[in-house]
Amino acid sequence: MIPLTVVDVRDAESLVIDVLRSGGLAQGPMVKRFEDAFARVAGTAHAIAVNSGTTALVASLQALGLRPGDEVITSPFTFVATLNAILQSGATVRFADVARADFALDPDSVAELLGPRTKVLLPVHLYGQMADMGKLAPLAAEHGLHVVEDAAQSVGATFQGQSAGSYGLGCFSLYATKNVTTAEGGVITTDDDELADRLRLLRNQGMRARYAYEAAGYNYRMSELHAAVGIPQLTKLDELVAARQRNARQLSTGLAGTPGLAVPVVLPGRSHVWHQYTVLIGPHAMLSREELAAELTERGIGTGVYYPKLVFDHDCFRGHPQIPAVRPEDFPVAHTLCRQALSLPVHPALTESDVDTIVREVREALGA
Ligand SMILES: *Cc1c(COP(=O)(O)O)cnc(C)c1O
Repeated sequence: MIPLTVVDVRDAESLVIDVLRSGGLAQGPMVKRFEDAFARVAGTAHAIAVNSGTTALVASLQALGLRPGDEVITSPFTFVATLNAILQSGATVRFADVARADFALDPDSVAELLGPRTKVLLPVHLYGQMADMGKLAPLAAEHGLHVVEDAAQSVGATFQGQSAGSYGLGCFSLYATKNVTTAEGGVITTDDDELADRLRLLRNQGMRARYAYEAAGYNYRMSELHAAVGIPQLTKLDELVAARQRNARQLSTGLAGTPGLAVPVVLPGRSHVWHQYTVLIGPHAMLSREELAAELTERGIGTGVYYPKLVFDHDCFRGHPQIPAVRPEDFPVAHTLCRQALSLPVHPALTESDVDTIVREVREALGA
């Protein structure tokens, strides 16, 4: 079996043991070390480690002081955490459609939603490639919006040389299957000193010095053990990303021309860090997406569907007071992608021959 993801954190053993022997388990020097390394990756002045990617999003929106009725524009083609975090902030969610080429917010669709209540633009850099920040960042600046990037899947990605997480507040996930993991965890990156200060306060009960509280806060802290798990991955991030890129190139070369299948594209000026390698199975393919996924499981290839439905299209969100009525059909591109997207293994543990096997099995299954 070639699994969709493989988690390999064996090289963290000695750092984790250092923490265990030190007896200092709660946020301390190891978290600081992790943050410094992460800030270098994102190219930002600050990196604030928290206990999940969801927390990173919630804390970022809280730091911006959103009020009920303020609007956040985001993508409906995302993991549910993006939506849950906005709901938690008390703001109203407005969904724009996505672009077929990058699976991320379509700037033209965003422009149609802008209004006096719009406060935040929250693009999701899906699968490891950044949204069209060349258009989205100027649009936000022109309308005085804060940018909060959901960069959970895109650590190390760039847009015209500028790193994911450096456009405003960058939110990363360190969940077990993400490109960099601490088992559970998250990071917020920013160049804004005041927001960084506010985030550090919120993370630790609003406390400046011992028992000196400046705001109502929370406990969003990361532990030393978690930070220790992540540090070696940041040290060798270039190598890990290069392996994913090599695998993606081999997959795209091998799968090109398979009837009914479209390979993912890397858009000009963007680097892709391949959290997922996602093909589209069109209506004229020999098998439906579901049939192909089942067939590949039979053949020993793991696959994943991210995401089978638009994020608001679940009963628990219908009629939600912070989600103005929306229908899947209002998002023609995202709606189509939900039905066609299928992710194949691209992780760094794959060998060249594993990738050959994936290519051969997919091509055979689709009658190529
Ligand atoms: C993983 C993920 C999150 C949430 O991160 P957690 O660490 O699981 O809380 C948010 N948004 C996207 C797009 C993600 O993929």
